[in-house]
Amino acid sequence: MEKITSLAKRRGFVFQSSEIYGGQNGAWDYGPLGIELKNRIAGAWWKEMTQLHDDIAGLDAAILMHPRTWEASGHVENFTDPLVDCKKCKSRFRADMIPEENLTAKKCPDCGGELTDTRKFNLMFKSHIGPAEDTASVIYLRPETAQGIYVNYKNIIQSNRMKIPFGIAQIGKAFRNEIVTKNFIFRTCEFEQMEMQYFVKPGTDEEWFNEWRKRRWAYYEKLGVKMDHLRWHQHGADELAHYAKDAYDIQYLFPMGWRELEGVHNRTDYDLGRHSQFSGKDMQYIDQDNNNERYIPYIIETSAGLTRNVLMILCDAYDEEKVADKGDADDIRTVLRFHPNLAPVTVAVLPLMKKDGLAELAQGIRAELKEDYATDYDQSGAIGRRYRRQDEAGTPFCVTVDYQSKEDGTVTLRFRDSMEQIRIPKAELAARIKQEIKGYKRIK
Ligand code: ATP
Repeated sequence: MEKITSLAKRRGFVFQSSEIYGGQNGAWDYGPLGIELKNRIAGAWWKEMTQLHDDIAGLDAAILMHPRTWEASGHVENFTDPLVDCKKCKSRFRADMIPEENLTAKKCPDCGGELTDTRKFNLMFKSHIGPAEDTASVIYLRPETAQGIYVNYKNIIQSNRMKIPFGIAQIGKAFRNEIVTKNFIFRTCEFEQMEMQYFVKPGTDEEWFNEWRKRRWAYYEKLGVKMDHLRWHQHGADELAHYAKDAYDIQYLFPMGWRELEGVHNRTDYDLGRHSQFSGKDMQYIDQDNNNERYIPYIIETSAGLTRNVLMILCDAYDEEKVADKGDADDIRTVLRFHPNLAPVTVAVLPLMKKDGLAELAQGIRAELKEDYATDYDQSGAIGRRYRRQDEAGTPFCVTVDYQSKEDGTVTLRFRDSMEQIRIPKAELAARIKQEIKGYKRIK
């Protein structure tokens, strides 16, 4: 993880928030390469969930919601973690994350000092809206995007004439006052989620739950993730949320071990039932194709962390490889083997020399490729070193322009994964890259 964190900083994927002031816990800034990667991961999910599914509509709900939302959802009462403090060193721990014996002996795992009793700590960030700081002005930063979907479910049925079964997809920020934030961007206080809530008829929920498990698994396969680094974890009785009928997490083998990446949950009719009760509005679905039968739909939720997916993709892509291309058998190159659809830069154009018109020729080629691809241009340093810089950024294709290019219009296309180089006419570049992306297979 240290290597990934340091590469992420060095190459401008992720920086610590407010670093010049010593950093802000639980918050991170996405740099030029990081924002491109995050946007592409979000784009891949969005395409999968909306473009490829006629029965799913998109939404972007506000972060600030009426405070009753969080009473109805159960967050005000139940969205808590068990917290203990050390009276001596003042460290704070999640009681369920420290060894049982420390908890029983009330002994701090760090300094051996005395621990406080376990108490419930609500993870929602609370503030006040407007000038008065009284109970009437309480407002929360949303701890999940799901509730924005539930409160809009009737609007979307009406505006888009949706019929059950159908889904609503949303990507957006969520905030949790996490007691322990560690492992880089894995668990943060400000993060982004990609959630899809699928509304189904009660009785068909188990079938749809299984179907969505299958689809989400297939999605990661399509992204080119190492499938032996993914597994299912079914929630046991002690983990299952009180409203959930069944829940599975997709876990990824991060450098610190197997951890949750995404959850697929059967949330029953709990959410819409509660919003009906708290708002006084009828949340029943009226099935016009079935004698106006009325029911509160069950919800199958697929809930993935976008920022956690960024970390997963970085870990999954990271590779160090022994290469001998510079004549040194022990040379190691660091390479991010991103799927070309996710890579922040798709193609880098490199003139062999700055002089003799090569730079101008290379800039011209870059300008042509820009319309279709995210490009980079680099003219400084030895060509081998420039390739390595692109490998580290995960750029799948490099185009090198040399003296022969001036004469016959051909260029060298170099592939990140195999380091193979081929010579092709520059006029064929855009089409060839497109073909390579479509047929991309991960080799390692
Ligand atoms: P945990 O038990 O690890 O706190 P959770 O089960 O509460 O997580 P969910 O509420 O199911 O998580 O959230 C759905 C997804 O949102 C998670 O699978 C994860 O990818 C992401 N997520 C949740 N909390 C955080 C966080 N603090 N930082 C980054 N991503 C998060």
